[in-house]
Amino acid sequence: MRRVPVSLVVFLVVVLSGALMMAQRGRGGAGGEGTPTVNGQCPPGMTEFRPGRCRAPEFPPPSIVDYRPRSTLVTPENLRPRAKFPVVDIHNHTTITATNIDQMIRDMDELNLRVLVRLGGGGSSTGPAVQQAVDYLQSTPHKDRFRIFATVQWNGAGGPGWAEKAVADLEAAVKAGAIGLKIAKNLGLDSRRADGSRLKVDDPGLKPIWDTCARLNIPVIIHTAEPREFFSPLDFHNERWLELALFPSRRNDPTGKPPDGNYGPLPTFEDLMGERDRMYAANPKTRYIGAHFNWYGNDLARAARQLDATPNLVLEVGAVLYEFGRQPRAAREFLTKYQDRVLFGKDAYEKSEYPYFWRVFETNDEYFDYYRDYHAFWKLYGMGLPDEVLKKLYYKNALRVAPGLPQTGWPE
Ligand SMILES: [Zn+2]
Repeated sequence: MRRVPVSLVVFLVVVLSGALMMAQRGRGGAGGEGTPTVNGQCPPGMTEFRPGRCRAPEFPPPSIVDYRPRSTLVTPENLRPRAKFPVVDIHNHTTITATNIDQMIRDMDELNLRVLVRLGGGGSSTGPAVQQAVDYLQSTPHKDRFRIFATVQWNGAGGPGWAEKAVADLEAAVKAGAIGLKIAKNLGLDSRRADGSRLKVDDPGLKPIWDTCARLNIPVIIHTAEPREFFSPLDFHNERWLELALFPSRRNDPTGKPPDGNYGPLPTFEDLMGERDRMYAANPKTRYIGAHFNWYGNDLARAARQLDATPNLVLEVGAVLYEFGRQPRAAREFLTKYQDRVLFGKDAYEKSEYPYFWRVFETNDEYFDYYRDYHAFWKLYGMGLPDEVLKKLYYKNALRVAPGLPQTGWPE
């Protein structure tokens, strides 16, 4: 009898036990199992479990609203309820009143938030409104804890006498105590000129406003457009799908299709970026603060090119922490290189949310939650910024860009 080679025996045992295991598991085994991908994609409801092969979960999958797996990662937690250095929040919308001021001061002291800048919260901040707010603050012991930016009324822009009135209003607001000008996102998106056309960010008729800010030595904080994904198709590749599904007003038709036939096509994301950048370039003597990092937090190379090309610009980090926190090494490198060009701002006032910023900026913690999972379903990482960079980000740069801030009593 011929001897059976050992290698053949081993081969047969492996094949037979594999087949047995597959039979026991029913659905198991990768070989020819499952459904093949079509054009590299699995059919809806399936996921690629082996290269080119798709399988549906055995149980009904949770929706993205319900799927909240708890992390089993064990790693140091360095919560930062209080910022390491005093902070100027250059981008806030809270109106300070006799009803909330005491609680606000207690919160701000706990957070180490020394000055909060209000940007036309809840309505206009033209002369009389600023005067009223400043008069109130002067009557309290806390006048150095708050500052106010003015706003401009766009209605009728380009029409007769509009620019003269807008400039006079702005001068009155600054005389009353405003220390900067806030431009909200409606400029470029939905503000109209007197003739009904879209008021573009680089409309030459706005030049008297920018000139006035340069002459009065006040900065302009400008919010243009929205995150890029707010202009992208609302499909399951959109990383802001949940937010856009929750907030209809944040959707912009990616094709620029107008809501009615009257005003011509709506601007795309790149249209708005281009208009804003031409405005920066045409007004080199005006100091601009790009709110929300000009929506380049997810593209730091582009943010760097823009800062290099635009000496009259600084960037503010309001509401884009989720971008820095998902790329802590690149963000640390960026904030270190451009440490003179970045300001802290939060946007919505919510006491419990500030410590997430401190933790991302100050610690080296890893893989922790963001405060709004509809903004960012991913985790954040700390970037451990050096003290000198933190001081510039938290207050030093703001004191330079907005001279109307309280200038004394800060650490060296
Ligand atoms: Zn804002």
